[in-house]
Amino acid sequence: MTGTDLSQTGVIDANIAPHSDTEAHVELTESYAAHNYHPLRVVLSSGEGAWVTDVEGRRYLDCLAGYSALNFGHGHPRLVARAQEQLGRLTLTSRAFYNDQLGPFARDLAALTGKEMILPMNSGAEAVETAIKVARRWGYLVKGVPEHRATIVAMEGNFHGRTTTIVSFSTDPVATAHYSPYTPGFKLVPYGDFAALEAAIDETTVGVLLEPIQGEAGVIIPPDGYLQQVRTLCHSQRVLMMADEIQSGLARTGRTFACDHEDVVPDIYMLGKALGGGLYPVSAVAADGDVLSVITPGSHGSTFGGNPLAAAIGHEVVAMLQTGEFQQRAQVLGARLSEGLAALVGQGLVEVRTRGLWAGVDIDPEMASGREVSEALLERGILAKEAHGQSVRLAPPLVASEDDIDLLVDAFADICAG
Ligand SMILES: *Cc1c(COP(=O)(O)O)cnc(C)c1O
Repeated sequence: MTGTDLSQTGVIDANIAPHSDTEAHVELTESYAAHNYHPLRVVLSSGEGAWVTDVEGRRYLDCLAGYSALNFGHGHPRLVARAQEQLGRLTLTSRAFYNDQLGPFARDLAALTGKEMILPMNSGAEAVETAIKVARRWGYLVKGVPEHRATIVAMEGNFHGRTTTIVSFSTDPVATAHYSPYTPGFKLVPYGDFAALEAAIDETTVGVLLEPIQGEAGVIIPPDGYLQQVRTLCHSQRVLMMADEIQSGLARTGRTFACDHEDVVPDIYMLGKALGGGLYPVSAVAADGDVLSVITPGSHGSTFGGNPLAAAIGHEVVAMLQTGEFQQRAQVLGARLSEGLAALVGQGLVEVRTRGLWAGVDIDPEMASGREVSEALLERGILAKEAHGQSVRLAPPLVASEDDIDLLVDAFADICAG
């Protein structure tokens, strides 16, 4: 929308006399939308591929990519075409009836994960909630844990979403403060510490919930072999290994799932973000029948979960992932990004962690804060956001070009050069 459009529609009071379209939109948003985010000062109005344009006509390379919901970039033609076609045909039926999109989507997503079934939801947090419910039920009905005693072991530094139960086992005080009473039944251990995990498991444990790479914590990669150890332990203790691949999955790391890097297959996958192609919220849990069949009619559900529009988009996403093309691009572009950033370690960057086209960059506090670097990147036409304190997370869309990656590296080099 241009400034003229806004005044014509009367959306903005002329007396406020905004200095620019950007300021007008920031002011409106800050006035009428709750302040649960602290956005960078840029107002976006269109996007194509790896690039977005703001209301002033400036272009930016999107290196946040909707926290990896936009792995396929903005407005991928294949996804938009499929969504438009489905929009005109049928969008919502509720699960009170069958629809002709869910079955094919469920079959192909099950095949992609190597699991027998899926349970479709909408947001990532709902997929995590679903996995928690499935694990508890499995614990009582299959493993034989006494009712009300089930525990799930989760990891310090985790991010699994924002529901009251999920924040109950978050270790981020900003996410948890003043939301008590917290849901019981969770134990925390340090991420990547196998001995601590082993010690935390007892006869009441039904699941180990982890991100194979911790995204929000700053792209934290566990020690080599850790996921394999967790897999073996869960098998031997009869505990479900629950992998939250909502951010790490679907080609971001150069493989379909981050667990693939250690040839690990968890008992439960949680998927979201890129599963909706950046067009629509689509999430799911994938598991074998002996696990997911503990969910029976009426015991779990969602008005929108599995709707035909979501299923059509998700199905197209799965088809795009089956070729391996995006996984390949993540490897190629990721190697380029990793090499470029590695040269800056010791010159403003303290550490760089990369897996595929996903990087956690720790900024030297002597140079700047994570937020300041995000702002400096913005000035140079790059959108990125600090993850935790001194880290900036980089996750450009997998449709970015080699030149785009060079631009990103050059911007960092420029900032480091002061
Ligand atoms: C984003 C995210 C979630 C929550 O997804 P929402 O769609 O925001 O509810 C859960 N787990 C991980 C690892 C995520 O990155």
